[in-house]
Amino acid sequence: MVLDDLGTSLRSSLDKLQGKTRLDEDDVEEIVKEIQRSLLSADVDVSLVMELSDSIETRALEEEPPGGTTARDHVLKIVYEEMVALVGDSTALPLEPQTILLAGLQGSGKTTSAAKMAWWFSTKGLRPAVIQTDTFRPGAYDQAKQMCERAEVDFYGDPDADDPVEIAREGMEATADADVRIVDTAGRHALEDDLIAEIEEIERAVDPDRSLLVLDAAIGQGAKDQARQFEASIGIDGVMITKLDGTAKGGGALTAVNETGSSIAFLGSGETVQDIERFEPSGFISRLLG
Ligand code: GDP
Repeated sequence: MVLDDLGTSLRSSLDKLQGKTRLDEDDVEEIVKEIQRSLLSADVDVSLVMELSDSIETRALEEEPPGGTTARDHVLKIVYEEMVALVGDSTALPLEPQTILLAGLQGSGKTTSAAKMAWWFSTKGLRPAVIQTDTFRPGAYDQAKQMCERAEVDFYGDPDADDPVEIAREGMEATADADVRIVDTAGRHALEDDLIAEIEEIERAVDPDRSLLVLDAAIGQGAKDQARQFEASIGIDGVMITKLDGTAKGGGALTAVNETGSSIAFLGSGETVQDIERFEPSGFISRLLG
C-alpha cells in the first residue's frame, strides 16, 4: 500500500486491527472518525468528507476481504481507493506545443507558478515562454522577468504598456518560437467584475489549450466562489496548489476541483523556480491524512 505516511492516530487505529480478519462496526467507525478529523483539519469541505466517509463505511462493512487479506489491509485498500476517487488523477498535460492561461487572485502565486511551469516544461525538452500580462500589481513585470531568467526560459512583457489584452496579443506573436506559452494574468484582492472581464478578453486573445487556476494551499473554503467564477468565465481545466511547503495541506483546493469538474495539475512547494512537482495522488493523500 502506498500510504506510508499516515498520521499517528489513524495508524494506531489501523494497528488495533492487527491479527483480525473481520471488521466490525466499531472498528470502521473509529477509522472513519480519524479520517474525518484529518481531512477537516486539512480544510477539505465537510460535504466531501461526509460523502467519502459514507463510501468507506459501506464498503468496509459490505465487501468481503479477499482470502488471505487482513482486516487492516482490507480497510486500508478501501480508504486509499476512496481517497483516490476524492482527489482525482493528475490533469493530463501532453508534452506538446500548447498555450496555458493562469488565473487566480493576487498573491496566490501565479507569477511564481508561471515561471515554475515554464521551467518544468523546459526539463521535458520543450521550449517554453512566459507572457506577463499583469499590469495591475507593481513589480509583477520585474518579478516574472527575473524568475524567467533564473529558469532560463523565454519571457515577454512590456513594463510601459497598460493594456493587458494588447500585451497578450503581442506576446503571442513575440514568442512564436516557443512550444509552450504560459500566460500570466493579473489578480485582484477579490473577484471584481473588471478582473473577470479582463481575463475573458485575454482568453479570447490567446485562445489557450488549457486554463489553470492557481490556489494558495491555505485557501480553505474561499476556493468555492473563485472556482465557480473562473469556471463560468474562462473554464478551468486544472488547478495548481501553491505554498505546500507551509503548514496548510491544500484540502480546500479539492473544493475547486469538485466545483470545476477538473483535477490537480501541479503542486508548488517553495519560492524558487524548481519548487514544482506534478500532482500525484498518493503523496497528496498521505499529506491530507498525515
Ligand atoms: P501572484 O500575485 O499570484 O502573481 O503571486 P506571486 O507569484 O507574486 O506570489 C506571492 C508570494 O507567494 C511571493 O512572495 C512568492 O514568492 C510566494 N510563493 C509563490 N509560490 C510559493 C510556494 O510554493 N511556496 C512559498 N513558500 N511561497 C510561494
